[in-house]
Amino acid sequence: MIMALAALAGFTYTGLPARVVFGAGARRTVRAEAERLAITRALVLTTPAQTAHGREVLAELGDRAVGMFDGAVMHTPVEVTETALAAARALAADGVIAVGGGSAIGLGKALAVRRGMPQIALATTYAGSEMTPILGETERGKKTTRTSPDILPETVIYDVELTLDLPVGLSVTSGLNAIAHAVEALYARDTNPITSLLAEQGITALAGALPVITRAPADPAARTSALYGAWLCGTCLGSVGMALHHKLCHVLGGAFDLPHSETHAVVLPHAIAYNAPAAPDAMARIAGALRAAGVSEPAGGAPSTAAGLLYDLERSVGAPRALADLGLPRDALDHATDLALAQPYWNPRPIERGAIRALLEHAFTGSRPA
Ligand code: NAD
Repeated sequence: MIMALAALAGFTYTGLPARVVFGAGARRTVRAEAERLAITRALVLTTPAQTAHGREVLAELGDRAVGMFDGAVMHTPVEVTETALAAARALAADGVIAVGGGSAIGLGKALAVRRGMPQIALATTYAGSEMTPILGETERGKKTTRTSPDILPETVIYDVELTLDLPVGLSVTSGLNAIAHAVEALYARDTNPITSLLAEQGITALAGALPVITRAPADPAARTSALYGAWLCGTCLGSVGMALHHKLCHVLGGAFDLPHSETHAVVLPHAIAYNAPAAPDAMARIAGALRAAGVSEPAGGAPSTAAGLLYDLERSVGAPRALADLGLPRDALDHATDLALAQPYWNPRPIERGAIRALLEHAFTGSRPA
């Protein structure tokens, strides 16, 4: 049998350099990993809520560390970066070790790219920033994004034990944030068979794990599967271009200050439904990956679409489903539509005002995609 390649006309695949240490207790390799990168004066970075994780990593580093900065916050504000940079200079740090989710890792990237230092990321959520050469920063309320090979962490440590206390709600929305990277990779303009394999397996690993995590938050097998899925989905985000879903979340987060991972969770089924007519192969693969994880339509129900299956998964794990519940006022929908159309970007289905307004209306009320 001949294997059917979606991109029969050919494709380009660019692999990003990544050294990944994965496993329960993997944080204990941090000193050896720092040594490998010739880091002798590491600065540990984390958020105020994760100082305990930060201190543990600091202790593992021993005399290879010079201190900890625990002021990382969401969206990498430049003022916070300046404060951390001053600490790095004062301590003559020669490397950064970020412990946390996208906020701590974003700060690590911001410092590493400014000082030309190596970085190690110990990821504790499923957001995937550790696998990308992308840095989003905010200055006076405006978020800008840049991409450079110098932004990508040299080493990523995935220690499932650091994720056991990730609250269930955040585990769910962060996992859906990761699934969104894989979904958009499957219909990306530069999609390719290699990234698509990672995307399918990432979706299956996370979609299978999240329902277990909601029932048993410290289940080691489910946590391991979710973290593995997050790695694969993060690689998708770092490897190919994203489209409508990420654009909408960026707009909603930036203009209306909506929470990052919750916004991803709400918008995703609606973005999939929007793109479904233009990306049938991707839809089949998304639905197949969800079904492989055990997601199915209610007994006796009609066969579901990829968007319907994802919506049902979200409902089963108690994810937020309405932008209204995240604090978006109804009268913001027209402005959000304008912003979504303001700068052209690639999407498998053309961006049409009426259809985008309808998508936002559905996401606002949280109705099941048709
Ligand atoms: P986060 O890093 O802000 O974490 C959310 C909260 O959960 C924080 O208070 C954190 O301390 C806490 N937390 C994290 N892990 C925990 C754990 N294991 N146990 C207990 N508490 C824990 O959230 P996030 O969703 O991971 O990251 C969002 C940020 O990352 C946004 O700024 C987003 O723009 C950015 N991001 C960037 C990229 C990229 O490629 N550049 C990709 C994804 C996200």
